[in-house]
Amino acid sequence: MPEVNKETQAQIISLVSDFVRRDVLPVVKDLEAKDIYPEDLIDQMAELGLFGITIPQQYGGMGLDHTTFAMIFEELSKGWMSLTGPIGTHHVMASIISNFGTPTQKETWLPKMASGEIRGGLGLTEPSGGSDIQAIQTKAVKNGNYYEITGSKMFITNGDHGHAFAVLAKTNENANPAYRGMSCFIVSKDSPGFSVGKKLDKLGYKGVSTCELIFQDAKVPENELVGQVEGKGFAQVLSALESGRINVAARAVGVAQAAFEDAIRYSQNRESFGKPISSHQAIQLKLADMATKIQAARLLTYEAAKDKDNGKRVDLQSGMAKLFASEMCAYVAMESMRIHGGYGYIKDLPVERYYRDAPLMIIGEGTNEILSLLIAKRLLDEYKL
Ligand SMILES: Cc1cc2nc3c(=O)[nH]c(=O)nc-3n(C[C@H](O)[C@H](O)[C@H](O)COP(=O)(O)OP(=O)(O)OC[C@H]3O[C@@H](n4cnc5c(N)ncnc54)[C@H](O)[C@@H]3O)c2cc1C
Repeated sequence: MPEVNKETQAQIISLVSDFVRRDVLPVVKDLEAKDIYPEDLIDQMAELGLFGITIPQQYGGMGLDHTTFAMIFEELSKGWMSLTGPIGTHHVMASIISNFGTPTQKETWLPKMASGEIRGGLGLTEPSGGSDIQAIQTKAVKNGNYYEITGSKMFITNGDHGHAFAVLAKTNENANPAYRGMSCFIVSKDSPGFSVGKKLDKLGYKGVSTCELIFQDAKVPENELVGQVEGKGFAQVLSALESGRINVAARAVGVAQAAFEDAIRYSQNRESFGKPISSHQAIQLKLADMATKIQAARLLTYEAAKDKDNGKRVDLQSGMAKLFASEMCAYVAMESMRIHGGYGYIKDLPVERYYRDAPLMIIGEGTNEILSLLIAKRLLDEYKL
């Protein structure tokens, strides 16, 4: 993807930042407390083109590079991380179609996804587990012009507000290794036999729906098999997850930046022992450490994004960015809470929200334990004796 020039990039980020300041910050506390899906804000995001950030311009998207994509996710997350939910896995699905779909699949899905008319999601995780993707049990059996999908998917973002999902299923249960028997399907919500389970009640990431998807011989037309080729689903999904991990890393940077900015502001207003707490060296050390770690995470994220745009395989870089940024975010949210003292624990201030939102980035798009294993595997390959 060609790099966006700096002036255009700055204009886009400024538009998103204005939207967050003007429309999001005044309502976030109420929406968060009531766990309300932010319909109006999501519609405004669609008007801003945020459902088509990386979708090619020929299909109505903005065709932006992954660095700008990361900056947008960072900006939204500074205001309310939940706003990135409806466009996060939506872009993973769009990336699967853009990179591996047939011309007809691209023409059918991408323009409506870019405008936000169709909101997508990703169905990988199952009730029995998400880390061991090759152990999924959902299967798709060809029957005439259709595949019949049976199984269920768990924790699916956009479950009740999404219109279509990229779903991974086994088309050959005997394949060895298992990933060779896995295929990816574009499943429309109105497919017969497809239903959405109840919305899950979460610690944070409020407002966004997270649901179980249930497939009971769900009929999916054969032309919705991604790329019209069986057995490639695992590779298609893993490739798209590289950009998913960049977006999760960017969310972590955004939440951490908000936590830091609140802390440095508060530390100059709050006094103890006759002076602002920012004058105490113990607080200064925290502020310096927080800001340094945030910047390190940001640079790792941008580097992964840049390499992705240059067409490189970035499972290592995106994995490192997501691992470091998410752990950093949890740490910075806690440090911000400490700097706020008792008020950091009270719902009047946003600090407790950052603290509740941070763990999602540790778990989502592959847990940090699994990512660490992937990183180690890649390094051992690279440094093999
Ligand atoms: C809010 C939310 C939204 C989500 N959205 C989506 C979505 O849109 N689409 C989707 O497909 N999924 C989604 N997920 C699921 C998420 O990707 C999974 O929760 C995650 O991959 C972990 O899977 P699991 O929960 O089944 O944990 P498990 O796989 O059961 O793992 C449990 C623990 O064991 C550890 N573990 C497992 N295997 C190993 C190993 N070999 N070595 C070391 N440690 C190991 C894990 O790291 C974890 O700590 C979402 C989850 C949440 C919470």
